[in-house]
Amino acid sequence: MNDLASTPQPDHTPPERPARQRKPDWIRVRAPVSEGYHETRKLMRELNLNTVCEEAACPNIGECWTKKHATVMILGDVCTRACAFCNVKTGMPRAVDPMEPENTAIAAAKMGLEHIVITSVDRDDLPDGGASQFVKVIEALRRTTPKTTIEILTPDFRGKMRRAVEMICEAGPDVYNHNLETVPRLYPTIRPGARYYASLRLLEEVKSHNPLIFTKSGIMLGLGEQRLEVHQVMDDMRSAEVDFITMGQYLQPTPKHAAVEEFVTPKAFAAYGAIARAKGFLQVASSPLTRSSYHAGDDFAKMRAAREEKLAREQERAKA
Ligand code: SF4
Repeated sequence: MNDLASTPQPDHTPPERPARQRKPDWIRVRAPVSEGYHETRKLMRELNLNTVCEEAACPNIGECWTKKHATVMILGDVCTRACAFCNVKTGMPRAVDPMEPENTAIAAAKMGLEHIVITSVDRDDLPDGGASQFVKVIEALRRTTPKTTIEILTPDFRGKMRRAVEMICEAGPDVYNHNLETVPRLYPTIRPGARYYASLRLLEEVKSHNPLIFTKSGIMLGLGEQRLEVHQVMDDMRSAEVDFITMGQYLQPTPKHAAVEEFVTPKAFAAYGAIARAKGFLQVASSPLTRSSYHAGDDFAKMRAAREEKLAREQERAKA
């Protein structure tokens, strides 16, 4: 008898992949088929622009592109990081496209945008992390479509944050968004290349440069976070004077990405939204399909109105 037959052998059966959870009804969206969708797609290709809508496989693309709301992703389509939640390609990025600022401005003009959201991949390979390209895009937009309000959603500019934020704030975007993405406990697995407190500091830094720039930040829910951890993130954002919080359901882009731990119900999103409002955010977006740039123009208008009301109330109180 072979010895091996009686010796316990290591189990080489591949571990079972956790089954992908079936999406609940409230997540299902219609396929993008409208004429507006195809026009937006054509324009982006003609101008050689990337969008986070496509790269992140956003579920709202049908709705947003029908209305010609696309979020332009500058600095290429290859990211130097590999976050466990993100669908954007990872690797060595290509050279920065010098035509990107002008092309972004042309796209905004052709789409007749009142509000534009610009984001980027992480460019840890560039000496300024890509901050100067954000500045050039803002400047091109101000020249070409001066009435368009500008929202930027930046990376954390690891190791170069202070100078990058200073340059961008001087260019004067209307909204500066930087997402915390998840609760601090989950950073090592979900956002291993980033630091929670460095991201919070970035948001504080924007306000210290120019308190008039609205700040915005968001987290994904359904990654295994606890309710009290979400409340703590809200408190941290408020201590950094963040004006606008977004909360949306995390969706697993491919089986290789972090699994969905929970589909948070619309009722639970509404409850988180109510708590965020009570904590003093000027604007709150909390629903399963909320994304940083979803309905960004309408929400910007509401946030601006909320600030004006708040200032008027404070002036009234000061007079009394
Ligand atoms: S929510 Fe944002 S990323 Fe998604 S399709 Fe709309 S604009 Fe694009």
